[in-house]
Amino acid sequence: MRSGRYDALKKKILGVMILVPIVPFLLVLLTGYHFFTNSLQKTTISHLEQIIDDHSRLVDLFLAERTKDLELIAETHGFEELRRPEALAEVFARLRARSPAFVDLGVFDASGMHVAYQGPYDLAGRDYCEAPWFRKVREQGRFVSDVFLGFRNVPHFVIAIAREGGGQGWVLRGTIDTLLFTDIVEKVRVGKTGEAYILDTDGAFQTERRSGGNLLESDGEAAAYLVPHEGIRTFRHEDARGEKYVCATSWMNEGSWLLVVRQEEADAFRALDDAIRLTLLISTIGLGAIVALALYLTHHIVRRMERVDEEKGRLNQQLIVAGRLAEIGEMAAGLAHEINNPLQIIRVEQTLIETLLGEIREEGGLPDSDRVKEVLDSVRQIEVQTKRCGKITQSLLNFARRKEPVTEVVDLARFVPEILEMVANKASVDGIALDLECASAVPRVLADSGQLQQVLLNLLNNAFDAVGEMHGGQGGRVEVALRGKGDTAVLCVSDNGTGIALENLEKVFTPFFTTKPVGRGTGLGLSVCYAIVKSMGGSIHVDSEWRRGTSFTIKLPAVEPEAGAKKSGPAAAQAREAKG
Ligand code: ADP
Repeated sequence: MRSGRYDALKKKILGVMILVPIVPFLLVLLTGYHFFTNSLQKTTISHLEQIIDDHSRLVDLFLAERTKDLELIAETHGFEELRRPEALAEVFARLRARSPAFVDLGVFDASGMHVAYQGPYDLAGRDYCEAPWFRKVREQGRFVSDVFLGFRNVPHFVIAIAREGGGQGWVLRGTIDTLLFTDIVEKVRVGKTGEAYILDTDGAFQTERRSGGNLLESDGEAAAYLVPHEGIRTFRHEDARGEKYVCATSWMNEGSWLLVVRQEEADAFRALDDAIRLTLLISTIGLGAIVALALYLTHHIVRRMERVDEEKGRLNQQLIVAGRLAEIGEMAAGLAHEINNPLQIIRVEQTLIETLLGEIREEGGLPDSDRVKEVLDSVRQIEVQTKRCGKITQSLLNFARRKEPVTEVVDLARFVPEILEMVANKASVDGIALDLECASAVPRVLADSGQLQQVLLNLLNNAFDAVGEMHGGQGGRVEVALRGKGDTAVLCVSDNGTGIALENLEKVFTPFFTTKPVGRGTGLGLSVCYAIVKSMGGSIHVDSEWRRGTSFTIKLPAVEPEAGAKKSGPAAAQAREAKG
C-alpha cells in the first residue's frame, strides 16, 4: 500500500522531470533544425542562381564581342578587299591575335559561294546557299548558329554577319573553337558534382557535359530543362538513373541556347546531412542525459521522502511513549506526595511511641524482658522503614522534577566514585570493565547533585548499551576520567562500543532522537543531559568513531570553596556569582 504510494509518486515526479525539460529541448532542436535546413537550401539555390547569372552574362558577352569583331572587320575592309586571299590572311592573323577563339574566317558572295577562306580546312569554293546558317544570316543580318558538322564534318558553330555591297550583298563568317567555348562554360565548380553545359532548343549538347554528354548528342532529360521561362529557373530534377539534382537554367543567345547548371542533391545538401547527423547525436545524448538525471533525482527525492516519513513515524511512536512516561511521572509524583503525608504521621507517631516507652521504662514501669526488647526493636524498624519510604518518595519527586534544583558545591572527586559504585554491580554482571581515572586536583563545581547524578547515569547507561551491542558479554570497556583544566572541571565518559554513525552525530542531543528499538529508547536521555549541563553553565561535547567507540566530555565551571553555601536557582548564574 505504502510502496504503491511511493511508486505512483515516483512515476509522477519522473514524468514531470522528463517532460518539463524535454518539451522545450525538442522544440528548440526542431525549430533550429527547421531554420537551419531552410536557410541552407536557400543559400544553395541562391548560389546556383548567382553562378548561372554570371555564366549566362559571360557567354552572351563572349558572343557579342566575337560578333563585334566580325562587324569591325566588315566595316573597315569591305567585300572586294576581303575576297583577296592575302588581304583576308592578314585580317585573320590580326583577328586571331586579338581573339584566339576564331578557328577560321570566310567570305561568301550573295549566292552562298565561299569566295575566300582562311583556316585549317579546305572549304574555299564550296557552295553554302543551302546551309541553314547562310539563309538565317541573310534574313537577320547577324547570326550565331547552333553546333553542327558542316562540310568539315567536325562539330562547330559559326558567327556570321551579312553586309550590303559587292552586288547583292555578302557575308563574313567566323568559326568558333568549340573546345575553347566549352572551356568557358565548363569552368563552373560547385561542390564535387556541380556542372554547367548548354543545350540547343532540340536538346542537343552545345558544350560537353562533364558527367557524360558529347557535343551534338541529345540529352535524354532535355524535356525537363527546355521549359520556356524568363530569367532564371531553379528546380529539383530526378534523372532516369534516380539521381537527384538541384538545377538552374537560363535562356541565352536570344533564346536559342539554354544554359544549365546543376549539382547532385546529396552533394549540394551534404552539410544538411552532417547537420541531421549532428542533431540526432545531440538529441540522443541530450535526451539520455535528461532521462538519466530525472531517474537519479527521482530516486533520490523519493528515498528522501521515504526516510522522512519513516523518521516521522518513529518520532510519533516516541512521542506517544514519552507522553505515557510523562503521565506515569505525573502519577508517581502525585502518589509520592500523597504517601508523604501519612508517612510523616507514622514518623510522628513512631517518635511518640518511642518517647512514651522511654519514659515508662525510666519510671520502671517496663520489665527488662525479651518481649519488651522486641517491641522496642519493632518501633526502631518502623523508624528505619519510614525513613526508607521517605527517601523513595523523595526520589520519585526528584524524578518527576517537581523539585526546584538545589545547587551546592560538589566535590566531583568524591561524588563520581559514589555514582560508579551504584552501577558497578550491573557493569560486572554484563562483563564490562568500568574504570575511573581521577587526576590529583579536580576543581569543585556548583551543581544540583541529583541532576548531576542523572547526567552521569544517562551517559553510563548509554555507554553500557553501546558496548553490550558491540561486544556482548565480554570485551566491553567504559572509562570515566576526571581532571581539571584551568578553572574548569572536565568529566569524560568513553567507551569502546558501537560508536555513532557520522550522519547521526549532530542529532544525538535532539529530543526524541534514538536508534534504539521502540520501548527501549526514548531519545530523551542526552537532550536532558544537554539541558542540565547548560543550566549549570557548562558544555557537553561528543566524539565518536563508527564501530570504534564514543566519548562524551562535560566541562563545568569550577567554584571557590567559600561559595559552598546551599542555594536555589539556576546553577549557571550562581556559578558566575560565586566566581565574581
Ligand atoms: P536513548 O538512549 O533513549 O536512545 P539518548 O538521548 O540517551 O536516547 O541517546 C540518543 C541516541 O544517541 C541513542 O539512541 C544512541 O543511538 C546514541 N548514543 C548515545 N550514547 C551513545 C554511546 N555511548 N555509544 C553509541 N551511541 C550512543
